Amino acid sequence: MAESAALNTPAFQQAGTAQEIVVRDPRSSQVLYSLQEPSDEDIRRAFDGARRAFQSIRAMTVRERLNETLKLKRYFLDHKEKIVDRVVQETGKARTDALVSEVFTVLDIIDYYDKHAERHLADENVPTPIIFLGKKSKIYYSPLGTVLIISPWNYPLNLAMVPMITAFVAGNSVVYKPSEWTPLKGLVEEIIEGSGFMREAVHVVYGGKDTGRRLIDQHPAKILFTGSTRAGKQIMEQAAKYLIPVELELGGKDPMVVFEDADLDRTAVGAVWGAMTNCGQTCTSVERVLVQERIYPQFVDKLKQKIERLSHPAQNPGKPDAGDLDVGFMTAPFQITKVEDQVKEAVNKGAKVHTGGSRDGALSTYPPTLVTDVDASMKISTDETFGPVLIVQPFRTEQEAITMANDTPYGLSASVWSRDIDRATRVARAIDTGNVSINNVLATQGNSALPFGGTKESGFGRYKGPHGLHSFSNIKSIMIDTGSKFEPHWYPYSREKYVLFSKLLDAVYGGGPFWLLKTLLVGMKLESVVKKNKL
Ligand code: NAD
Repeated sequence: MAESAALNTPAFQQAGTAQEIVVRDPRSSQVLYSLQEPSDEDIRRAFDGARRAFQSIRAMTVRERLNETLKLKRYFLDHKEKIVDRVVQETGKARTDALVSEVFTVLDIIDYYDKHAERHLADENVPTPIIFLGKKSKIYYSPLGTVLIISPWNYPLNLAMVPMITAFVAGNSVVYKPSEWTPLKGLVEEIIEGSGFMREAVHVVYGGKDTGRRLIDQHPAKILFTGSTRAGKQIMEQAAKYLIPVELELGGKDPMVVFEDADLDRTAVGAVWGAMTNCGQTCTSVERVLVQERIYPQFVDKLKQKIERLSHPAQNPGKPDAGDLDVGFMTAPFQITKVEDQVKEAVNKGAKVHTGGSRDGALSTYPPTLVTDVDASMKISTDETFGPVLIVQPFRTEQEAITMANDTPYGLSASVWSRDIDRATRVARAIDTGNVSINNVLATQGNSALPFGGTKESGFGRYKGPHGLHSFSNIKSIMIDTGSKFEPHWYPYSREKYVLFSKLLDAVYGGGPFWLLKTLLVGMKLESVVKKNKL
């Protein structure tokens, strides 16, 4: 193949007067199928269907909803090879990456909710202050309605199913828009149909950014957006017009902090996997390794050796991946250009490439690359790279490592490596980020019980874990009164009541040894005043 046609072909192409989305297999650049943008009627129909379904879903118990998700679990287990084939075909990712990140994650979230969601969504009793004697306070987790999920191309099934399942378990129906680069046309519908999962609960709408905007105009009850920081800001701006709550899961420039007492061999393997898995197209990829000065040269050597042992498509083009390919293809052509430009710019400004760094233009792939001698003037050290490229920088002290880790507009994830767990946890607390793995990498997002989300330009909100269910809930406060006669703050007001009420506040909140006795005495006086003076 000459300079790959796929590299220069946008996902969109003009077909007559209509915009057509052309979907290709990144491994061969072969056209798989094309899609038309939906009509306004299609969009309205999706929302109408989802809103009708919401009425049934909200009436179901959490257990009934979980029973629906268990059907999905069975389907994923029985059809995992077929699902992996489909994901690999549109993303070009390594087969093992697809199995681990797109199938395991879905099975695990279903399993986690099956065991814990009833408890997390159950009505909660909370304390009631003595001043509200006789009343009960509760929290109800009610569903929100029809929510909109917009996803990117890097984990097209995981980032469809996990938010969708979370929203559904919390009682919502879903309109879902996949990325125009990896729509996986018909796969979600096939999984729903084939598993027997409640069909109307999820409506898939295919299209690009403009379709995303038109979906927001339908006033969903909430938007969970996963994608770039640029698009996240646009979505928030549009949502603000209608006051739609948004949850934004955006980009990252994740640091990995390696102290000199870490197990260097294991840590180097962790760094290489964390940087190269999914061909580096992971929001929580290790993008920057910060290494303590004394071990820096040794650690860079180790990284180079381990990276050079990885298998990737350029070594043996056309070899089928039976699960033994380490680093897969890049999914979107524009992303290869971005990675290439960052590496070229860094080299022109004096950075050193230890391995990788240039590609065979015939393949939609980029070799695993190691770069050092970077500085803040280079995009590679400040912007999200989102490719199989690792930069390494030395630091001297713990404080310097924290400063360097935080020297980024992003705050998605990080890792800290040291045998001194006190130090590692101290650093983990000091990094301004949503997730930190200690002596591991990309680990927090593997645990469905842990909330996932970022800080700063990586977005806000949390999905997964109990917080995920609650973020798809209307957290409703309830106070139950069975008809108490004592409401001192109600009408009518009087001077006498004012003075007693003031004493009551002193008694309840002023503390001291006899606060309860004082409270009871003032309370009794107030009660008689309340009884005497009725409105
Ligand atoms: P993108 O922002 O270009 O597109 C993501 C989705 O949003 C697509 O479906 C796209 O059609 C839609 N979209 C874009 N602009 C829109 C708009 N104005 N209104 C409505 N919809 C719009 O991102 P991408 O290139 O598909 O994905 C890569 C990015 O996603 C990276 O920055 C990566 O870090 C991030 N990401 C974040 C997470 C996370 O959990 N934080 C996970 C995966 C990927």
